[in-house]
Amino acid sequence: AKSNGRHGVCFFDPTMQAALLAHVKLEADLRQAQENRQWILYYQPQVDHLGTITGVEALLRWQHPERGMVSPGEFIPLLESMELINDVGEWVLESACCQLARWAQNPLLRELTISVNISPLQFRDEDFLSRVERVFARTQVPLYRLKLEVTESLFVEARDEAREKMLALKAQGVRFALDDFGTGYSSLAYLAQLPLDQLKIDQSFVHQVLESQANAAIVESTIALAKSLNLEVIAEGVETEAQQAWLLSHGCHAYQGYLFGRPVTVEAIEELMSVH
Ligand code: C2E
Ligand code: CA
Ligand code: CA
Ligand code: CA
Repeated sequence: AKSNGRHGVCFFDPTMQAALLAHVKLEADLRQAQENRQWILYYQPQVDHLGTITGVEALLRWQHPERGMVSPGEFIPLLESMELINDVGEWVLESACCQLARWAQNPLLRELTISVNISPLQFRDEDFLSRVERVFARTQVPLYRLKLEVTESLFVEARDEAREKMLALKAQGVRFALDDFGTGYSSLAYLAQLPLDQLKIDQSFVHQVLESQANAAIVESTIALAKSLNLEVIAEGVETEAQQAWLLSHGCHAYQGYLFGRPVTVEAIEELMSVH
């Protein structure tokens, strides 16, 4: 293992070498995945206080030929570092928009919204707006049914630029949710300046809401903040009826989590909406 490699790199540590090789293989696999469109969107229900499905969040899955279904936590950061996130993100948006356009034809489904996750890197890309507008033109999507989920990290730097892009999209009817709220490091002052529609309370706070007074306090103040800024608020990661009851009694009327449904195929969502 101490021999000098072809590229002049010495590997003294076999585990490090194995990790590096695995990384290189994964990158190659991801390029292949984009070329062969090994992607599928799963959809997770978002419900109101009556349990009625009002929308879904689109969640990307990779159908790996050998490894099976791979979760985005394992490959989104890599897509970002490879700059592949722009192309994959465009595929995600286009698929979600096609779905909305199809649902618009069906009286039982046309009220549903779809929330799409947008990576900060993808949002900041100089071609983001033109890519998005091309997708909108291709799919003829009802834009007021589309919600884009962005995270606080988008606003840590170049906030004005991000704000301008949001305004341009809002002018066309697109809505915005602030995802993972409370886990970022940005100040609250920016919140009022952004054209947001919804705050998503991060699941890390929701999971412990009954056990931890600190988490309960954070959730309560997030709900109050949303109210005073006139934003919708939705709780993520709701897993138990006790959590839902607590949220309801504290003024949060929209929920997403395993209690109401895991991310599933589009067919399963349509089944849940009893269309068949
Ligand atoms: P996220 O946007 O915060 O999405 C919510 C994650 O929590 C999803 O994981 C979902 O399956 C999971 N989840 C939902 N309800 C519950 C629950 O009750 N309990 C628990 N324990 N988990 C729940 P998933 O699908 O693995 O996605 C992970 C992350 O990957 C997402 O977090 C998002 O940041 C990112 N991601 C997913 N799809 C896309 C995409 O199309 N584009 C981009 N840029 N990122 C994506
Ligand atoms: Ca999200
Ligand atoms: Ca989230
Ligand atoms: Ca997250």
